[in-house]
Amino acid sequence: MKSSPEKIEPRGWVEPKPLAPQRYAYQCTLDQEEYDPMQRARELMGHQSPAGDRPPVLKSALRLLVAHLEKQKYAATDCPRPSKPGTSPRHIPAAVKRAVAARDGGRCAFVSEAGQRCTARHTLEFDHIQPVARGGQATVENVRLVCRGHNQYAAEQEFGVEFMESKRAEARHWRPHVSHVPRALALRPS
Ligand SMILES: [Zn+2]
Repeated sequence: MKSSPEKIEPRGWVEPKPLAPQRYAYQCTLDQEEYDPMQRARELMGHQSPAGDRPPVLKSALRLLVAHLEKQKYAATDCPRPSKPGTSPRHIPAAVKRAVAARDGGRCAFVSEAGQRCTARHTLEFDHIQPVARGGQATVENVRLVCRGHNQYAAEQEFGVEFMESKRAEARHWRPHVSHVPRALALRPS
């Protein structure tokens, strides 16, 4: 049996250095596309952005970005609407996404045979524990958040490495132009 994949760190990410309780040092070089909107945001924030403060736009920008990404990825909202019945059995209703994201705490829910839970918090994808191809439903109990590596690993365990490789090759052949669909989501039978 193939062993479970290691945690994958995003490329180019440098971990901030802890300096003191709740204080971290992070140094980076900005390019023009980052510098210009930072300056513009400072101008627009006006009095909310006192001189001498550490990059004051950073906190606001990150809050907005996190809210946007949570909405996009986990259907997070302050005003949930009742979900409509999905037309595709693969469709995961927004209410299920929200409940799964809250339960799994934005962390990969894969647990190894030794009982260790994966620590990955990035490249997370919704995974049907019992695959749709085998009658799995999009319910909170049957859906979990897993990192891309563990999504592929689970699919290989379920359907076999050879089957998944042939699916990947098929997808590369038929959909070379589709770049915005997360690879594991686009390829796995789910
Ligand atoms: Zn994982």
